[in-house]
Amino acid sequence: MQGKFLYETHMHTSQGSACAHSTGEEMARAYHERGYTGIIVTDHFFNGNSAVPKDLPWTERVERFLKGYEQAKTTGEAIGLQVFFGWEYADRGPEFLTYGLGKDFLLAHPDMLSWPIEGYFRAVKEAGGFLVQAHPYRRAPYIREVRTYEKLVDGFEVQNIGNSDVAFDLEALRTARENGLYETAGSDEHDHRRFRGGGMAFHRRLADIQDFILAVQDRDWEYVLPFGEKHPY
Ligand SMILES: [Zn+2]
Ligand SMILES: [Zn+2]
Repeated sequence: MQGKFLYETHMHTSQGSACAHSTGEEMARAYHERGYTGIIVTDHFFNGNSAVPKDLPWTERVERFLKGYEQAKTTGEAIGLQVFFGWEYADRGPEFLTYGLGKDFLLAHPDMLSWPIEGYFRAVKEAGGFLVQAHPYRRAPYIREVRTYEKLVDGFEVQNIGNSDVAFDLEALRTARENGLYETAGSDEHDHRRFRGGGMAFHRRLADIQDFILAVQDRDWEYVLPFGEKHPY
């Protein structure tokens, strides 16, 4: 990957996600060691596998939700890794990577968990966010049904290294192409000791999360790993 800038677009920290095994600091160090320029921390939101207790005031929940990202960011500043913020929003199975919005959006909407998913999409779009359906065709015990939203989201995650079958990725790629959607690739990493790699390689260093969205819209990127391949770390 000479002359390329590697970015992780989908990963979790143990501060934010109940299913993650590594802290924001551990994840940031692991990506830096493997030559990544930046990462986007996308912990499971409260309607997913969140590590944040439900019985706290909304502001406190949001503060806790950001802990993994904030720790990764502090670590990143010390070691030279860019760390951007996003989240993975769930709707009883389907999950949506949400980019380009910050803590202020979450704090402003303490009622968001009661919205129908279409209402969530609308609010995110109105606020200037970018929606990518994560691993749209993944079949797994925790996913009750496959529901895809190619008419309502901006993009599909067409490669997810956490998918157990490459056929899920290829199905996502086909639907994305048929519908003219933007495409992203990510690892969905939950454990720095099990690092499998993945993500997107851009031809330039990205300035911030808005610049990431622009680069995705430019469609000028390459896969970090070929389909079906995992780093043997
Ligand atoms: Zn998870
Ligand atoms: Zn995920």
